[in-house]
Amino acid sequence: MSEAWRAFDVEIARWRDAGRDVEFWWRDDDATRPAPELERLLELCATSGVPLALAAVPEDAVPELFACLGGGVTVLQHGVDHINRATEGEKKTEFSESEPVDSAVARLSSGRVRLEMLAGTRAIPVLAPPWNRLHAALVRRLGAAGLRGLSTYGARTALTAAPGIVRFNAHVDIIAWRSGRGFLGDEQALGLAVQHLAARRGGAIDADEPTGWLTHHASHDAAAWAFLARLFDVTRRTAGVRWRRADELFGIVSRAR
Ligand SMILES: [Zn+2]
Repeated sequence: MSEAWRAFDVEIARWRDAGRDVEFWWRDDDATRPAPELERLLELCATSGVPLALAAVPEDAVPELFACLGGGVTVLQHGVDHINRATEGEKKTEFSESEPVDSAVARLSSGRVRLEMLAGTRAIPVLAPPWNRLHAALVRRLGAAGLRGLSTYGARTALTAAPGIVRFNAHVDIIAWRSGRGFLGDEQALGLAVQHLAARRGGAIDADEPTGWLTHHASHDAAAWAFLARLFDVTRRTAGVRWRRADELFGIVSRAR
């Protein structure tokens, strides 16, 4: 076992020694249509038994996408059209501060309705905005779009992002977006997880927010796929580790389960 995997194992053991379960959840972004990479993702979900929160782009999603999902899959809303509307001085975002909030709320609402129509009871009204960005004025209005949850990136500062909007973020993005867009590597990916777990354990951040793993099936190289398979295999066999379903996490359990 390499040092990175050993350190990961040691951190989980510290939780176990403290009598606490390590809770993880898994979010994968950018689903729009069936593709070999998506099939591979779903197969990994099915064989590992790790529940998947699949963030789909409502405007780009085709009905066939939802025909092939297995029982462990919950669908989140990944923006509306995933078009970058950032203006000068803004980082990439679908939801620019230059767009009137009412217009963004209307788009989000129609996206939510379309996703519910396509995905049925698999869809939960939770927004995972593209590039993990949503400005504060829009966060406060998510309820008006019929949304009840939000997922971005990094340790949350509170359980609710706004009244009626619960928040569960991702914390371990396994892709090296700024250097080659390949797998981040065992050391860095597991390092992010250990860092988040240790901060939770130490009380520096919200201990009750499960550590979220973020993947992008369309961008995975062989190393990323191999890492995920190993991560799921190792964690499923490690006592005290629990992978949470997104619908349970957000408190929105669909009727069809
Ligand atoms: Zn995206």
